[in-house]
Order: sequence, then C-alpha cells, then structure tokens
Amino acid sequence: MNVKKAHMRLGVQAAAVALTIALTYLLFNNPMGVCWLDPFWHLQDLFARAGAESIVYLGLERVDLLNPSTTLPTISPYIIVAAFTCFAMLSGRMFCGWLCPFGTFLDAVEKVSPFKGAHKAPDDLKDVNLKYVVLFGFLILSFLVGYTSFCDYCPAGVLFKGLTGHVIFMAVPVFAIVSLLVFFHGRKMWCGYLCPVGGFLALFARFHLLPIRSAGECIKCLNCEKECPMDVLVAEKYIQEGKAITDSECIKCMKCVDACPKKILRFP
Ligand code: SF4
Ligand code: SF4
Ligand code: SF4
Repeated sequence: MNVKKAHMRLGVQAAAVALTIALTYLLFNNPMGVCWLDPFWHLQDLFARAGAESIVYLGLERVDLLNPSTTLPTISPYIIVAAFTCFAMLSGRMFCGWLCPFGTFLDAVEKVSPFKGAHKAPDDLKDVNLKYVVLFGFLILSFLVGYTSFCDYCPAGVLFKGLTGHVIFMAVPVFAIVSLLVFFHGRKMWCGYLCPVGGFLALFARFHLLPIRSAGECIKCLNCEKECPMDVLVAEKYIQEGKAITDSECIKCMKCVDACPKKILRFP
C-alpha cells in the first residue's frame, strides 16, 4: 500500500499536539509545560541570565517569569539547544512540518480558510529575513531587560499557556493578527517571515544532511511548487538544477513529494 507521506505527517502532528496538551495540562499543569522544551525560550533565558549578571540595570532587576525549574524536571538548556541544533543539521526544519504544535494549529487555520494561502500578501510584508531580526532582536532585548522578553508577545503561548489559564494579555492581539494573516495569506506569513524558532532552525537548514532529493527525470509540470506552502522553488531552483532541496524555508511537509506525478522526489 502506498501511504502518502502527508498522511504519516498528519499522524505525527496529532501525536505531537496530544503530547503538548499532556505536558502542559495533564502532566504538569504548568504554563511552561511546552516552553520548557523550546530552544528559543532557553536561548532567551541564557541571554537574560548573562545580561543580569554582566550589566548594572537602571533600577531593573531580573524577573524570573514562570521559571520552569520550579515544578518541571530540570534539563540543561544547553542540552535542549544542542538537541534542536543537531535535529536541524540532520533534517532541516522538519520540526516545523511535523512536530511544532503551533505550526499544526496554523496548518488547520490554513485548511479552513477559503483562500488556502493563495491570497498573496503585499511584497512589503514578505521578507524571509525578518524572522532573523525577530530572533536576534528578542535575544538582545532579553539580555537588556533580564527576562525572556518574547514571552510577552508569543502567539503560541496564548494557545498553550492559555490551556492552564495563564493568559498573556499583550500576546492576545499578536495571536489574533497572526491567525488573520495566516487565514488570508497562508502559514508562511508566520512560519516563513516572523517566527523566531523557525529562524533559529533555518540557520542550520541550508546545510542539513538529509534534504529531499530527486531520483528521475523532471517533466517541469511545477505541481511541486504549486503545492508548497512555503513558496520554495522546488523544481526551478533545485530539482532541474540537479540539486537537493536545502532551502531554509522547506519545512519537510512532503506536499511536493506527494504531488509529483513522476514520483521522483525522495526523502530521506
Ligand atoms: S516556524 Fe515557528 S510556528 Fe512555524 S512550525 Fe516552525 S517553530 Fe512552529
Ligand atoms: S519544498 Fe516540499 S517539503 Fe519543503 S515545504 Fe515545500 S512542499 Fe513542503
Ligand atoms: S512535480 Fe515532479 S515532475 Fe513536476 S516539476 Fe516538480 S519535480 Fe518535476
């Protein structure tokens, strides 16, 4: 039986969402149940601690907002960041396509939208480098203010911390705007242009070891590009040039693999 990779991915995404809910709500009943495994949270925390230790604040003190170590098992932040780095060096942004619970939520928003990402965003809003500005900007801000500053605006936190009754008020409008942007213009609006975790993983995706490759002749139908939610020029930039898809925007959703009529795209 030929099981479509997209179906396998759906199963993994459902399991990851179930695990997220179990961690956040059932197991620990702690708003940090998910952030505790988030490399960007740990990077911010490391920057915040470094900042707090190395500069004298103008009357500010480091704020230990929701320190996960109070009720959650302690894992070294270096292990979490190293694990995500290794995973990204191996599989690019597969975390985004298969495991990230917020990415799965955005997939669902895109699915119920009548536009399904086809409603193109204004060019001014489309810059894949913006997410690196968000990533490094909030790391610097965390260093300066002494706490994990992105948490105040995190749209994923609205959903998952909200499960435990912990609502971050400043993040609610961000969540609403991101949901609307994705509804009208597709998942790429957040995952491609703004998400700092996506930015962190994208830093390594260009060099990852297990990209999607082609094994056969491309008939230039461009079905793969029409299906790609991240606007990767699958055939024009990679397959027809004889290259593997090492694009920093590829989230390994496998839609191109399933869409190819010649079945020439392979992963791993
Ligand atoms: S870009 Fe961010 S929100 Fe989107 S799937 Fe990746 S980590 Fe999740
Ligand atoms: S290139 Fe293929 S696997 Fe990567 S995001 Fe686009 S459709 Fe998904
Ligand atoms: S769908 Fe397959 S055959 Fe068509 S352009 Fe893409 S790689 Fe080539």
